[in-house]
Amino acid sequence: MEQIKAFGFDLFNTLITMEMDALKDALSRLTGSLKGNGFAIEHTAFVKAHSEAVLAFLEQTRRDGKESHNRFWISTALAKLGHDVSPDSQYISEGVETYFSAFIQYATLIPGTKEMLTTLKHDYPIGLLSNFTHPPAATKIIAELGLDHFFDVVLISGDLGYRKPHLSVFEALIDQLGVESEEIAFVGDDPEADVEGALRAGLQPVWTTYVRDNNITPAPGVVGKGQGDPDPTIPRISHWQDLLALLHRQ
Ligand SMILES: [Mg+2]
Repeated sequence: MEQIKAFGFDLFNTLITMEMDALKDALSRLTGSLKGNGFAIEHTAFVKAHSEAVLAFLEQTRRDGKESHNRFWISTALAKLGHDVSPDSQYISEGVETYFSAFIQYATLIPGTKEMLTTLKHDYPIGLLSNFTHPPAATKIIAELGLDHFFDVVLISGDLGYRKPHLSVFEALIDQLGVESEEIAFVGDDPEADVEGALRAGLQPVWTTYVRDNNITPAPGVVGKGQGDPDPTIPRISHWQDLLALLHRQ
C-alpha cells in the first residue's frame, strides 16, 4: 500500500461475525411478531415464501445495484400466502425490528478489532461502508459492540440506495472522507463487493480472509456468492497485525 491517508471498512465478516443461529432465530421472531399482529400464517410456509421473495429481490439487486428492503420481502411473502398488506404497514415495520433484534444479539467482534481501530484512529480518518438493508439495525449493532466512536463516516447501503460494488457508494465514501480515492485503503472480505468495487472506484483494496481462514460460518444473507478470489496482487490479510504490517511497509 502507498500514500494511505484514510481507511474504509466493510462490516460483516470483516469487523464482526454473526453466530450461525442468527438467521433461524430472526425468522422465528418475525413469524412470531406477524402472528401476534393477527396474521394467520404457519412458520414453515412463511419461511419458504419469504426465502423465495428474498431470492427474487436479491436477483434484481444483482442486476441494478439498488438496495432493497426487508419490508418488501415480507409483504411479498405474505401476499403469496393470501394476506394483502402494504410494505409500509406498521405490522411489517414491527416485524422488521423484531427480525433484526436477533442479529443484534448474535453479532460478535472479530478479535483485536477495537485495538486495531484504536491504533489506526491516531493517524487516519476511518469510514464504514456496509451493505445492509435496514440502517437502524446496522447502527444499533455498531453501537452495541462499541464501534461507533471509531468511525468518522458511517455509510449504509439502505440509506444510500445502492449496494457495493456500485460505484456511487464508494464515491460517497471518498467524498465524505475528504481525501483522494487512491489515498484510501478499503478493507473487506467480499471479492466482488469490497475488493472489485474498491478497485473500480480507484481505492486501494485489502482483502481480509479471517472468517474464511478460521472456518467461521459467514454472516447469513449478507455475503456475495460464487465469485472467484481476487487477483493475487491484491494484499490479503488474515489478522489485524497483517494490516498494520502492510501499513508500516509504506
Ligand atoms: Mg462483508
